[in-house]
Amino acid sequence: MKAIYCDVCRNQIPEIIINRTFFPVGHFEICEECRDNLESAVKNTVREKKPFDYAWFDDLKMKVLEQAVDKGHIESPKRR
Ligand SMILES: [Zn+2]
Repeated sequence: MKAIYCDVCRNQIPEIIINRTFFPVGHFEICEECRDNLESAVKNTVREKKPFDYAWFDDLKMKVLEQAVDKGHIESPKRR
């Protein structure tokens, strides 16, 4: 069986349950923790933008994710 690593934090995902422990986002594969961080990072930005539109929501998500993959972690706007 092929080991799967989170594209953001590079941790191995021990048990692969799609959409539970492991989340395919675009062409990336990320762990639950990074998914949660990604969601909250995107959500904070989404709140300021109206009307809601799925096309740019996906765009934004991919943009945040691509930066996160480069940096090795997700930049959360909530972080102090
Ligand atoms: Zn991760």
